Amino acid sequence: MKAPIREIFCSVQGEGPYTGVRQAFVRFAGCNLDCVYCDTPVDRTEQCKVEQGCGTQNFKKIDNPLRGDGVSEIVRKYEGLHSVSLTGGEPLLYTNFIQGFSPGVPLYLESNMSLPERAKEVADMFKYVAGDFKLKAGFNLDNYDEYFDDMVECFKILKNTDERDCFCKIVVLDGFDMQNLLEGVNKIKDYISMIVLQPVTPVDGRDVRPPTVEKMMEIQKTLQDIKETRIMPQSHIMWGAL
Ligand code: SF4
Repeated sequence: MKAPIREIFCSVQGEGPYTGVRQAFVRFAGCNLDCVYCDTPVDRTEQCKVEQGCGTQNFKKIDNPLRGDGVSEIVRKYEGLHSVSLTGGEPLLYTNFIQGFSPGVPLYLESNMSLPERAKEVADMFKYVAGDFKLKAGFNLDNYDEYFDDMVECFKILKNTDERDCFCKIVVLDGFDMQNLLEGVNKIKDYISMIVLQPVTPVDGRDVRPPTVEKMMEIQKTLQDIKETRIMPQSHIMWGAL
């Protein structure tokens, strides 16, 4: 029922086809993967930071862990929301919390797509799914094949329907393997509305860089024959928003 949450705040979505929509963000602690480009602290904190008013960056701290109904009440105070983004960390680690979460606006799941059994428990609750397909080049653990199969299964469970928009986000790093990319895209193409290629954002202290603009556009051209493909960097970072 309860989940460790690092922060709750109100901003605009900074990635993918819903860039710019006004959202509350519920950022869970904890993640079961380890991506080389991860820019999100995922360790559990004793307290959760709660923004007092949209865009104010004025935070109050409350004790963790938190219940779904309590967080619903907090989020309902933010006005004019398009949806609530469940992000992390990995939100699907906390399906019991999600089942008790009812903020009064649609739910937008941001997931690494590695937990198909958990996805089944809450699939019907999401109106939007921003699902990651992690490339081998950015994957730090040694069970990539297992992740790959689970990722395909997750897209099958959370697939695009008339009631739910499920799209795929792929963070692309220089030196990635095109075969790996094509294999994944071909396996999930029937379950998604589009592909979003996100050039990796260089993170302090990590040796990651995006492919050149020319290379990104070559990849887009190749993928366009399989599925609509857009190239979209992280806009909230350019803007300086949360
Ligand atoms: S899945 Fe997301 S939160 Fe987890 S390590 Fe990768 S980038 Fe970080």
